[in-house]
Amino acid sequence: MGSSRCPTCGKPVAKSGPDRPKSYPFCSDRCKLVDLGKWFDEEYRIPAPIESPEQVEELLREEEERLDAESAGE
Ligand SMILES: [Zn+2]
Repeated sequence: MGSSRCPTCGKPVAKSGPDRPKSYPFCSDRCKLVDLGKWFDEEYRIPAPIESPEQVEELLREEEERLDAESAGE
């Protein structure tokens, strides 16, 4: 006990004590970002780079509608 594994690379990560990384449960900020990136990829499949402010607004509106629909379902 005393350590768990980094969800990204599987390296042992200290759960507590001086070796516990700031990025816990990830071994490093890099692994944390990789995992976050994966999550964003799955959650918001943005097919193309954003090109215009209108496009950003459109995406935000869609996201709001999605969140509204989710909370309305409860
Ligand atoms: Zn890692």
